[in-house]
Amino acid sequence: MQFEFHSLFSGSKGNASLVRFGETLLLVDAGVSCRALETALRQRGVQPESLRAVLVTHEHSDHIRGLPLFAKRYGTPVYASYGTWASMQGQLPLPGRQRMEFDPDQDFYIDGVNVSPFPIPHDTPMPVGYSLECMGKKVSFATDLGHTTPKILGCVARSDVLLLEANHDVEMLKAGPYPYSLKKRILGRYGHLSNDACASALAALLPTGVRRVFLGHLSQENNSPELALSAATSTALALGAELDGDVFLRLTYQDRAAEPVLL
Ligand SMILES: [Zn+2]
Ligand SMILES: [Zn+2]
Repeated sequence: MQFEFHSLFSGSKGNASLVRFGETLLLVDAGVSCRALETALRQRGVQPESLRAVLVTHEHSDHIRGLPLFAKRYGTPVYASYGTWASMQGQLPLPGRQRMEFDPDQDFYIDGVNVSPFPIPHDTPMPVGYSLECMGKKVSFATDLGHTTPKILGCVARSDVLLLEANHDVEMLKAGPYPYSLKKRILGRYGHLSNDACASALAALLPTGVRRVFLGHLSQENNSPELALSAATSTALALGAELDGDVFLRLTYQDRAAEPVLL
């Protein structure tokens, strides 16, 4: 198998995705326990020590929870923006050879994989999304963002696989039990992407050839899988796309892996 994408866990309690480009195995975020990561990897025939790198989007605990132990146990290099490293400092005391810092506007390579980080609007000092490209395949990650920008849309355009946030239904969030300050944070420009904002992004992205979309980081309190999927589906149908032909829309899950992509 040449290319694989697995959303292992996605949601506000923990996030991790596995990508394979040939021999190169990469993890994007490690926001569940080390044990849960090990189990999820081994279930897919991947030995944790064979990972080439962990790419971190930002330092919220739902993205790095298992990372200190995992990185220590397996010696995996950890990549994060220099601003994210500055914030993670105390939590992730790794030797220099595992500590890979990058500028959020600068591409770099891991083995043959071109890694393009891009800044995302979220409430940490220097959060990023990623596009990874190799062997004619492109996979992108855009979760934990308060809004999309032309730059983000440009970076993730033409992805074969896209993990895109569909965090909440605005009406459910407004009517729900969260305190006002938390609602304000989530709805804000540096919070999380709503189903409607996700659908608008897809209206711009699907015509570029984005083919397989995984709806990510769904809130368990302020969203339902049906609402998230229906907003995205309406957009795809309005564009005249044939579902499961031109475009594949899939859900991700907090406690289990989504349907994998094997190309
Ligand atoms: Zn998150
Ligand atoms: Zn976050």
